[in-house]
Amino acid sequence: VDKVTADNVDQLVGHFPLCMQHLHRKLRELHHLKHFARMQYNLFLKGIGLTVEEALIFWRKSFSTITDEKFQKDYAYNIRHNYGMEGKRQDYLPLNCHSIITNKQPGPGDQHGCPFKHFSEDNLRAFMAQTGVRKDENLKEILDLVRGKHYQVACTKYFEITKCLEDSISRDSGERHLMETITHPNSYFEQSALQLD
Ligand code: SF4
Repeated sequence: VDKVTADNVDQLVGHFPLCMQHLHRKLRELHHLKHFARMQYNLFLKGIGLTVEEALIFWRKSFSTITDEKFQKDYAYNIRHNYGMEGKRQDYLPLNCHSIITNKQPGPGDQHGCPFKHFSEDNLRAFMAQTGVRKDENLKEILDLVRGKHYQVACTKYFEITKCLEDSISRDSGERHLMETITHPNSYFEQSALQLD
């Protein structure tokens, strides 16, 4: 994909970290996301190259159960605001892992946050199994990191396993990690997309 548009975000989800895969799934399932989830996801999409014009199309189409009038009134402003086109015109940066993990904690019914930090162990295990962690030993290894509160290391391990970097690691004289620890969802995306080249 040369250019990220409203219509091809769905094709890119395989390159997203779990936090953004979760937001995308919830958006498709509910046709809606709450405020903090929208902000987390919109800033991430901005970071991968979605322009404000395309972002407005993306969100308008995704919120498919409401009228245009309601979309314009309740949501379009905030989307433009994330792009620095309203209010103080601050150009907001995509949130890094530390902010996503430590900012406002999600309550029941909230979708924002980091699955490694905020999901129950059962939900996290199921989500990882659905998205490509096939072996029990790998699930256990990641869940042990989560229990030790090493959320970003767990995310990095998830990347290595789902992108099949594990084979190269085992051939690599005792080196456990090929990658720097993930500290930003957008760097996760970039590293995943780069692998295709
Ligand atoms: Fe997203 Fe960062 Fe959590 Fe990974 S560690 S799921 S990139 S917030």
